[in-house]
Amino acid sequence: MAVLSRCSRAVTAATTPNAAAAKFSYLIRALSPFSSSSSTFDADNGLNSRIKPAVLGTLKREPKDRNVQWVFLGCPGVGKGTYASRLSDLLGIPHIATGDLVRDELASSGPLSSQLKEIVNQGKLVSDEIIIDLLSKRLEAGEAKGESGFILDGFPRTVRQAEILEGVTDIDLVINLKLREEALLAKCLGRRICSECGGNYNVACIDIKAENGKPGMYMAPLPPPPQCASKLITRADDTEEVVKQRLRIYQAMTLPVEDFYRCRGKLLEFDLPGGVRESWPKLLHALNLEDEEDKQSAAA
Ligand code: AMP
Repeated sequence: MAVLSRCSRAVTAATTPNAAAAKFSYLIRALSPFSSSSSTFDADNGLNSRIKPAVLGTLKREPKDRNVQWVFLGCPGVGKGTYASRLSDLLGIPHIATGDLVRDELASSGPLSSQLKEIVNQGKLVSDEIIIDLLSKRLEAGEAKGESGFILDGFPRTVRQAEILEGVTDIDLVINLKLREEALLAKCLGRRICSECGGNYNVACIDIKAENGKPGMYMAPLPPPPQCASKLITRADDTEEVVKQRLRIYQAMTLPVEDFYRCRGKLLEFDLPGGVRESWPKLLHALNLEDEEDKQSAAA
């Protein structure tokens, strides 16, 4: 009952699409060959039955067969970028992180950059209009290059953004990554980015001891490859104060997005059991996918 009422609150929080949504709609429709078909969700393994045949062993075939539209949800520091980018490589689908779009805009010193800098460095959310404009431009550029499908990371972050997205296209699956709260802050503070290739690494070694019947958890650092080691930078919003603010904003603004997708049967909850080595094969299993390269390197 409680779940139902939370669901109906999320649905009624919907707003009528505005001009920004209409613009988004144009772009997403253009990118969405499946948008008029109905979407059925296979609750057993969390995959949309329409895309399941495409991801089961036929990943390298026709692009139309691997044109999935997935979203990654999860708190700051949970690892959305890491797993979305691995899945993007595996499936050959663009990984679009709205945080990266914002940081590119900041670095460009364009007209928006000083306004954005203040918002981002305080851990606040950028307005829907700005974020939709940046995302639309990214989708448009991808369309011009022949891209189709996407793995979104960092969008939607509010129920209004989710409504806009839901109004214009079928999201096949929303992967909700979860990690123990004690690890999130440490992971953000340990995050390092390669200033050249954009790769995400982590210097934090998380070792939570078992306590009061709660199991321990170990997450090894994620070191950069030698060619990135001298080019690592720390994000300006990965300070303790700003990360805590981002976590608060997640609870207030983004947690309801989980309910939004839960109500629609699209949410796949995934509790990260540890670091990438341990979690990646389990995530693939939950998605009914296989990574041949990973299997071979594990066997070597
Ligand atoms: P992220 O890299 O996803 O942590 O995003 C970094 C920052 O970009 C966030 O703290 C926000 O200021 C901004 N941002 C990214 N995505 C969104 C979004 N969907 N809505 C509003 N602001 C966003």
